[in-house]
Amino acid sequence: NAKIYYEKDSDINQIKDKTICVLGYGSQGRAHARNLHDSGLDVVVGLREGSKTFAKVEADGLRAAPAQEAADQADIIAFLLPDPSQPEAYETWVKNAKGKGKTLLFAHGFNIHFGQIKADPDMDVIMVAPKGPGKLVRDLYEDGQGVPCLVAIDQDASGSALADALAYAQGIGGTRAGVIETSFKEETETDLFGEQAVICGGISALMKAGFDTLTEAGYAPEMAYFECIHEMKLIVDLVYEGGLEHMRAFISDTAKYGDMSRGPRVINDQVRQEMKKILEEIQGGRFAREWVLENQANRPAYNALLEKEKEHPSKEVGANLREMMGWLK
Ligand code: NDP
Ligand code: MG
Ligand code: MG
Repeated sequence: NAKIYYEKDSDINQIKDKTICVLGYGSQGRAHARNLHDSGLDVVVGLREGSKTFAKVEADGLRAAPAQEAADQADIIAFLLPDPSQPEAYETWVKNAKGKGKTLLFAHGFNIHFGQIKADPDMDVIMVAPKGPGKLVRDLYEDGQGVPCLVAIDQDASGSALADALAYAQGIGGTRAGVIETSFKEETETDLFGEQAVICGGISALMKAGFDTLTEAGYAPEMAYFECIHEMKLIVDLVYEGGLEHMRAFISDTAKYGDMSRGPRVINDQVRQEMKKILEEIQGGRFAREWVLENQANRPAYNALLEKEKEHPSKEVGANLREMMGWLK
């Protein structure tokens, strides 16, 4: 099992004399920057020239600066902008920033693990990745709690990479919940696999396939939508709260029997084989190469897929049903 660090294992003073540049002020960036600041650390938010976000940072009572200036001042640079934008941000603002031996911090390992950013050997390269969206990272921090985080070290030029990473995790509230040790490789590959095969790709394909099966058999699309798509949340919420057994404690015996006896026929050996192939494409770097090239070509396949997804008949049915559920807005 993985090693887990708590508040007793971390010392925020480790980085109290350092300046932290947070690049990006979106979901993660805003939450990290505010939590670090409220933990008494020196934070400067680095933004692209002309960004409308300067005013937002200042309204939150934090310091904002153009990314180059922020990177020049910083000892720790947190890459909290979208993953495809990070390599260019590194080349433009960070690689030749003033000062040596900076720490690069990531909340996801893609660019380091797949070689899209090649940090100087004198730099530390660390990961502190909250296992939750930025809003939760902020809300729980304000409430005296924290979101569990992952920590990983890719380069330790200073010899204090782990201590610094744990101090940062403490600064955002992560050590209150616990910080799980992993590697850039493990975090990146499991994250991609989970989103492709299960929580995004697998689940949306499963919901559409269920919807299609019922409507093709002549059932009303409204019924198909409720049973195969809308009600997913009720089940997932129960799993989130207490795991599969807890979920099963809340569904009928009929549902449980159907679940346990039929589920394995849906996710059968052929599906499991395909999951293995998807994992191999991730491990071998094929998915990463495909996505990097796709971005370089301005995303032709990505945009075509987005358009095609909009054509699925569940889209309109769902929109109409939500009209009946004003409380969802
Ligand atoms: P966001 O998409 O929310 O980041 C938006 C911010 O990035 C904005 O401030 C935006 O600038 C800035 N930005 C966007 N493009 C550029 C660019 N080309 N150059 C400079 N700045 C740019 O990112 P997330 O918070 O979702 O993700 C950040 C990192 O955290 C990623 O590595 C992601 O994988 C990871 N992560 C995300 C999680 C999440 O919950 N979203 C969970 C765990 C990890 P402007 O304000 O000017 O528009
Ligand atoms: Mg991901
Ligand atoms: Mg039902």
